[in-house]
Amino acid sequence: MLVIATNNVHKLEEIRAVVGDRFKIVSLADINCHEDIPETADTLEENALLKARFVHERYGLDVFADDTGLEVEALNGQPGVHTARYAFSDRHDTEANVTKLLHEMEGKTNRKAAFRTAIALILDGKEYLFEGKVEGYITPERRGTDGFGYDPVFSPEETGKTFAELGVEVKNSLSHRARAVAQLLKFLATVQ
Ligand code: IMP
Repeated sequence: MLVIATNNVHKLEEIRAVVGDRFKIVSLADINCHEDIPETADTLEENALLKARFVHERYGLDVFADDTGLEVEALNGQPGVHTARYAFSDRHDTEANVTKLLHEMEGKTNRKAAFRTAIALILDGKEYLFEGKVEGYITPERRGTDGFGYDPVFSPEETGKTFAELGVEVKNSLSHRARAVAQLLKFLATVQ
């Protein structure tokens, strides 16, 4: 059994779909952890480690945590580690985040961006890091209804569609998180 340090239902579903029945993945709610886990570091990797350590130290379970950032070239890599709280520093408001991004990108011809996920795993007390990345573009407006977060404005390279238009199955075949989870699974296959 592996704990994933999240209660985000979308994320849980995406990760379970990629993992299949190879591992039993339980959420924070499943282990009765309802605390607010700090994500105060300056990098995705450190944030993922903070979350994984929090769970490992309190519950003594094998755990992995992910942290994702959207890195936009024309915005010098922003919002990056601030992706979740881009519009308001004290709360996560997806609609406002996307609106702010579209506003910041107005008139920009370089619309290149990448989603990057860092995964920290603590297994038998040892720490490991994995990464997944997908390159693409920020669209000028929202398109599509599937997915969550910035999905309606991120178009992975060579697809001509946004994640929200591509649908969950296609997204899971090429997303940053799916790629990071694939690295994690490759590693787990060598040790279990
Ligand atoms: P987290 O690290 O997974 O909590 O994600 C940080 C921020 O990135 C949140 O605002 C999410 O909505 C956004 N985000 C993470 N993964 C995705 C994704 O797959 N699609 C769109 N937005 C995402």
